[in-house]
Amino acid sequence: MFGGIEAGGTKFVCGVGTGPEDLFTARFPTTSAAVTVAAAVAWLREVSGGQLSAVGIGSFGPVDLQTGFITSTPKAAWRDFDLAGSVGRALGVPVVFETDVNAAAIGESRWGAARSVSDCLYLTVGTGIGGGAIVGGRVMHGLTHPEMGHVRISHDRTEDPFGGTCPFHGDCLEGLASGPAMEKRWGVRGEDLPDDHAAWALEAKYIALGVANFICTLSPELVVIGGGVMRHGRLYGMVRDEVRRLLAGYVARLPEIVPPGLGELSGVLGAIALAAGETSSNG
Ligand code: ZN
Repeated sequence: MFGGIEAGGTKFVCGVGTGPEDLFTARFPTTSAAVTVAAAVAWLREVSGGQLSAVGIGSFGPVDLQTGFITSTPKAAWRDFDLAGSVGRALGVPVVFETDVNAAAIGESRWGAARSVSDCLYLTVGTGIGGGAIVGGRVMHGLTHPEMGHVRISHDRTEDPFGGTCPFHGDCLEGLASGPAMEKRWGVRGEDLPDDHAAWALEAKYIALGVANFICTLSPELVVIGGGVMRHGRLYGMVRDEVRRLLAGYVARLPEIVPPGLGELSGVLGAIALAAGETSSNG
């Protein structure tokens, strides 16, 4: 039996099981590191009856994948926190540590919308924006890990004078198109904006600029987009149209752009898959 934690900026989604068929989940609000980790660990221990072989964690970041630490997050209570070590020591099991979006990409690749392809991109557009890529069946890491939400995209300040919300870059993709960016630009939460509001076309354009760049860079067979902002379902069609327009017929075959097959469980199921991989690779 495996444990999974999707460590998010607003909640921890915890799971126990071996896959979608037998998964138990619980959610805990992300408050202080000590309180949230204690709640997650206690639940994992109780639901598994102490029978966990390993735990996978997909964490908000930035993270250091080598050490299992959350690093330079704006969330002061979590800065330089040893998340993997804290969970591993408390439960006495091996921990596999990943970024939240890499875990979600792994979950979608294993059981979700991307299960029949070897190259896919998972993007989340919500409180933040991030992406994880599966390339040749393996999750892409590089020197540290990709930060697809922080790519610089073209920003027409006549059309959109808003300076962006990213504390590091201002008007990077996340700074222009995350949920908090929408709320700050328009003065209301995205979910409260009417369908015909100009916000949605602008949002689709920014997401599509990011997606078009990632298609040109990674050539994924499938693009899965999740996250709270995408609950505005009309965005999928708008993003598809805008990506097609931006690439202007140059990329011969465009990947499908779809919602997550696992709904809101991509991350925690990816964490379970990571934990299962850890035990299999250790024999
Ligand atoms: Zn940024």
